[in-house]
Amino acid sequence: MFTITVVILSILSLTTPSSSSDQPPRSPADVCIIGTGIAGSSVAHFLRQYSSSISQIRMFERHPIVGGRMATVTIGGETFEAGASILHPKNYHALNFTHLLNLKVKGPSASDSSFSLGIWDGQKFLFKTIDSKSKSSVVQYFVSLANSLRMFVRYGVSLLKMTNFVEVTVDNFLKYYESKESRPIFNTVEDMLKWADLYNLTTQTLEEKLVALNYSPLLIQELITVITRINYGQSVRISGLAGAVSLAGSGGNLWAVEGGNWQMAAGLVNRSDVTLHLEEEIESVTNLDGFYEVNSTKGNSYTCQVTVVATPLDELNIQFTPKFSIPERKLQHTHATFVRGLLNPVYFGLDSMLEIPELVGTIESDELPFTCISILKEHSENDMTYKMFSRQSLSDTLLDQIFSIRSETIRINWGAYPHYHAPEKFAPFMLDDGHLYYVNAFENAASTMETGAVAAENIARLVLSRLSSQQPLRMYGLKTSILDSSPEHREL
Ligand SMILES: Cc1cc2nc3c(=O)[nH]c(=O)nc-3n(C[C@H](O)[C@H](O)[C@H](O)COP(=O)(O)OP(=O)(O)OC[C@H]3O[C@@H](n4cnc5c(N)ncnc54)[C@H](O)[C@@H]3O)c2cc1C
Repeated sequence: MFTITVVILSILSLTTPSSSSDQPPRSPADVCIIGTGIAGSSVAHFLRQYSSSISQIRMFERHPIVGGRMATVTIGGETFEAGASILHPKNYHALNFTHLLNLKVKGPSASDSSFSLGIWDGQKFLFKTIDSKSKSSVVQYFVSLANSLRMFVRYGVSLLKMTNFVEVTVDNFLKYYESKESRPIFNTVEDMLKWADLYNLTTQTLEEKLVALNYSPLLIQELITVITRINYGQSVRISGLAGAVSLAGSGGNLWAVEGGNWQMAAGLVNRSDVTLHLEEEIESVTNLDGFYEVNSTKGNSYTCQVTVVATPLDELNIQFTPKFSIPERKLQHTHATFVRGLLNPVYFGLDSMLEIPELVGTIESDELPFTCISILKEHSENDMTYKMFSRQSLSDTLLDQIFSIRSETIRINWGAYPHYHAPEKFAPFMLDDGHLYYVNAFENAASTMETGAVAAENIARLVLSRLSSQQPLRMYGLKTSILDSSPEHREL
């Protein structure tokens, strides 16, 4: 009864016939990229932008569509972002891609700024902003002023410090857009973060950082917790850097790509002269004499001089030979539930629907079955589309308590982002001392579309600089630092 409709990319122009298992293609495929999300598509884009010496780029995607965690869902005939939905105004790679690909920026509408927020503890709303349905900009101005005052009264001057903390972090991040002449190529995530003064934020939790900055405990327990739960499904015990990125994602002027962010990946793949293998899952990568043999579940075998892993390895079963180990990392699963219907005021102890805020955020409590609920679209007074996030799947019984009307429900279980902690441990960008690279090592810093693109740009430069260096490639044998048999490491 419930169907998920994701936007299907026009694949015909992008696919090439797969080789049969009887006659695996042995012609050198210079670069193979596993994964077609923002990370994989950005690697392809920057390789082409920075060099004309790459003869072929093959991209592998296990699904029938590109985009990965940038995907849309169609409910009640309307399409919404199902995964990565918002971009920061200073996400300059994403902005450049959008312009380059002639995509349209969907900015915040006037009504977005007057979105009402409530902080729910499972029993009652601890805090609610005033809601204004007025279209008058004067009324909206005063409502917004009143809401700022209410927040100020509850959370005090710490609110102002919040902006400052985010701005400093964003300013440091801007270093990654400096010209290539002044910006090093980074061999490790640690070096990359240290260069931009971001590394220290990964050594302590957001909570520790904010306490050290004298933030009010109430602000941390309520508003900031609401934000980290919405953006990363986790508490304020995520690392300070993931926390700062999460807070940046709650500011103003956020944007998205009209029609779906996945179009960035599709556009980049399309214009990067790529041989795209859709519905082809890679099951093994074997380091041979100077090349990698990449095998898919279709029985096909490809030869690549360079292999780039552009997907988190945490829940995958790719067989690498020789084996290596990387720090153990768990993915945080976020269950996104889309409901067309109407919330039930009784569930929230309220008399009327109108009293339920448009965005219901929550504090940390084991008893709370969801992390947030927001209105995606108001079709009429009694007909809305909602998005809910939760750490566990939501049962029909529970949904029937939360909603008084529920005409359509779609559930997606995302292996969403790393489960953050501090101090973070990072996997290497280079998985061996040949040409096996891992873009998503950077996700331990923060997981966003933009950080994926920033890491991908560095990987593209790393590949090109190492290819052009005249050193012979040592394809056998691993650096001792890569082999680590400690219990916190996962062997792949
Ligand atoms: C619910 C949710 C909300 C989010 N909200 C935001 C947000 O608002 N803003 C933001 O910036 N970020 C957000 N993010 C994070 C963002 O989606 C990710 O950081 C980013 O999209 C990761 O891109 P990626 O290319 O690294 O990985 P992915 O997008 O996961 O791409 C990896 C691709 O590799 C493919 N693949 C995996 N294994 C194989 C294999 N063996 N063979 C072939 N193909 C394979 C996968 O199918 C996938 O398509 C959100 C994520 C989720 C889940």
